[in-house]
Amino acid sequence: MNHYPWYEVLSYYHRACLSETNDTCAIVFDIDGTLIDPRVMQLVVLKAYDEVHETSWFDDKGLNDLTIYEMYIRQQLLKWEIPATKINHICEFYYENHWSEKTVLETATLYPELSDLMKQLFDCSQTDVFFCTGRPEFMRELTIANLHKILPSYKDQITNYNLHMNSRDWEYVVQEKRRSMEQLISRNNVIAFVDNEPSNLIGLTFLPKSCLLVHADTTYKAYQEMPERCLQMSNYINYRPLVDAVS
Ligand SMILES: [Mg+2]
Repeated sequence: MNHYPWYEVLSYYHRACLSETNDTCAIVFDIDGTLIDPRVMQLVVLKAYDEVHETSWFDDKGLNDLTIYEMYIRQQLLKWEIPATKINHICEFYYENHWSEKTVLETATLYPELSDLMKQLFDCSQTDVFFCTGRPEFMRELTIANLHKILPSYKDQITNYNLHMNSRDWEYVVQEKRRSMEQLISRNNVIAFVDNEPSNLIGLTFLPKSCLLVHADTTYKAYQEMPERCLQMSNYINYRPLVDAVS
């Protein structure tokens, strides 16, 4: 495994692909945990709890203190040594407010380290950017608004055409991503797919090896198997300076 962050690897890979062909290429991104940092939403909701209840449990907490996947907020609170008697009340407030439309819209934030990569891809006339999210179809409008918020300079390149939603329910995310990718690869020269959930990447190992499967190593559900081809990204990159630097 190399020591470069995934977005730098993808940036090199994209340049390398372009240098070999005049064809247009496409790159597909998951949204939550890949482009949008879910910890912002978590922290805002926890701090809102303090404000509403005039408490100060989360005063000293910042983004980097959130180390456990968002669904497991209870474990995170235990880790922070919040008294057990308070945890149920906090969790109740958290589940009511996180993923509410207002919170989702207000807290959507791009991981700051991705801005150069986004600029590289969106400014390149030979590249199409697509989004493939597990969010259900009813969230389409909200999701477009989120993407416009995190990538304000590229609003006109982000439309319903670029956005593949989950047309079923949350349990079918993997199947739906497969369906979207089958459609996308039949129409586009997809050179990479990026997702933070290993289970989604596992579901896409049917894709030709010319499509790099990239794991966005942010926060994700624990104890998931990772496809081998994700762990060896350097194998897919014929870019000498990068390959040479990999130990
Ligand atoms: Mg995700």
